[in-house]
Amino acid sequence: MSMLMVGSVALDSIKTPFGDKKDILGGSAVYASVSASFYTDVKLVAVVGKDFPEEHVKFLKSRNINLDGLQINSGQTFRWSGYYEYDMNQAHTLDTKLNVLGTFNAQIPEKFRNSEYVLLANLDPELQLKVIEQLKAPKLIAMDTMNFWIENKRDALREVIKKVDVVLMNDAELRQFMETPNLPVAARRLLELGAKSVIIKKGEHGSLFFSKDDHFSAPSYPQEEFRDPTGAGDSFAGGFMGYLAKTNNVSKKNIRQAIILGSVMASFNVEDFSLSRLKRLAHHEIVERFQAIKRFSHFEEVQLVHQ
Ligand code: AMP
Repeated sequence: MSMLMVGSVALDSIKTPFGDKKDILGGSAVYASVSASFYTDVKLVAVVGKDFPEEHVKFLKSRNINLDGLQINSGQTFRWSGYYEYDMNQAHTLDTKLNVLGTFNAQIPEKFRNSEYVLLANLDPELQLKVIEQLKAPKLIAMDTMNFWIENKRDALREVIKKVDVVLMNDAELRQFMETPNLPVAARRLLELGAKSVIIKKGEHGSLFFSKDDHFSAPSYPQEEFRDPTGAGDSFAGGFMGYLAKTNNVSKKNIRQAIILGSVMASFNVEDFSLSRLKRLAHHEIVERFQAIKRFSHFEEVQLVHQ
């Protein structure tokens, strides 16, 4: 099963303790599409400006990403700049220039409207709502967001959350949105708000899944190579949804496997800037890391007796 992806395509300027890069390929939909493309065919709906380099278009095509829904509008491509300090769990935004994203109409091509697996990567929640309205037969919709939209479009975000199956947020965003420092309480409040399930990404500390009748705690991978966390959340979301779409199965077991594959994709993505690491990622590396995480988090039943 292929999947539909809607989100931002960006030129990012990023500073981490390991480097300083200007106008590199980024954007929520780019990280998520490339990550998902390791599992399934991706149909991308997004917008760029006339300045968007052709080499990036070629790269996305080389990953078999269908770009029929990529609008090239007059104006500049969306730009985001930010920096990270030694605690790279926290992104600090320096500037957000919406440019062509500010007038993006989120029009889904007719032939994509039957998509069953849909990832609404980080984007204006009003556009996410517009996409949902155009879908004819969604089986699983997941959405991601960030503090920028929590601060600027809280009401629209609440509406999106009620309409999707999986909400992806990082720990700081969920605390901010639900106004509590306690993550299980925040997750419960989000479910009460109408979310069917939530995945809380905790950066280098793994992730948590909550639904009304299930909970899963996914471990992290002991990451030693770590240069740039940008796109970690999006590559997680792409791996997660890509696997569910490929298997066309949303059982509890599959969701757990998909969460681990999401973590695996994020763990590779942070090893280098932009899409550099995913560009040279081989399939066997994904399998090996998945198995390593399974080994590292396995433990046996214990028989405790009272003395
Ligand atoms: P992540 O690190 O996974 O949370 O996402 C990083 C990506 O999100 C970057 O490549 C940015 O281009 C993109 N981004 C930053 N701000 C926004 C925004 N307000 N809307 C959509 N995408 C954004």
